[in-house]
Amino acid sequence: PTRPIEGTVSVITGASAGIGAAAARALVAAGGRVALAARRQERLQGLVEELGADNAVAVAGDVRDPAHNDALVAAAVEKWGRLDIVVANAGIGAYGGILDLDDDLLREMVETNYLGTVWTVKSGVRQFRAQGGGGDVVIVSSVAGYRGGADEAVYAGTKHAQVGLGGSLDRELRAEGIRVSLICPAATSTEFAIGAGRTEGSPQLDEYLSPDDVAHTIRICLEQPRSVRTTSWQLWSTQQQ
Ligand code: NDP
Repeated sequence: PTRPIEGTVSVITGASAGIGAAAARALVAAGGRVALAARRQERLQGLVEELGADNAVAVAGDVRDPAHNDALVAAAVEKWGRLDIVVANAGIGAYGGILDLDDDLLREMVETNYLGTVWTVKSGVRQFRAQGGGGDVVIVSSVAGYRGGADEAVYAGTKHAQVGLGGSLDRELRAEGIRVSLICPAATSTEFAIGAGRTEGSPQLDEYLSPDDVAHTIRICLEQPRSVRTTSWQLWSTQQQ
């Protein structure tokens, strides 16, 4: 038996591009409805038009702002009456040695990848509790959440922090029927990967995972029977070391 996506209501952060946009398409293809968040309003609006206004709604804002995350959940509940799934996916990556990256960029990375995830999860869990429990939280971390690399100390730190958050929340929330899953992809061919400045030793982009590969994993994770705690999923391209 599986848990169907059909009829579910999700919020997805970082939905204007890459993995988040692919996850939105995958969940709607499976019969779900999605509230989409990111800063770029026009990108979100284009995705709403593609998916259909009955299936998708856009809420533009910055994931670093707790009030934006509350507004995202409120928009989903206003349109569809409930919330079933939170996909905390928004993130940025900057690669370089510890002394090479600008302090403002390091702060933005921590505040987006880690604190942004905290705010998204808080807004979702508050709604799950108001509904009487149950629900799914999916955090898009990375294989860098388990194994850092020489040029990604602060980025990998934010991804390790998401793993610590998710593993702890799994223990905190399971008694309420709330599942917490970590989706941890290796390099994926998105704008993020192209802009990340990885050169030496990097696999070519066509050897990376695709955003659809990661979205498919999110879908099958969510489709596990409610009796299964889904915890942590790592995925690599067969082309990568
Ligand atoms: P993209 O750059 O394609 O997408 C990132 C998304 O995050 C965009 O929708 C962007 O929207 C959003 N975002 C970034 N900053 C903010 C912000 N301050 N407020 C709101 N939204 C924000 O990257 P990916 O799809 O690759 O990345 C998604 C997640 O996957 C990230 O958490 C990343 O760490 C993780 N990941 C990526 C891997 C890769 O190799 N690509 C590998 C492993 C994990 P906008 O700019 O419109 O705000």
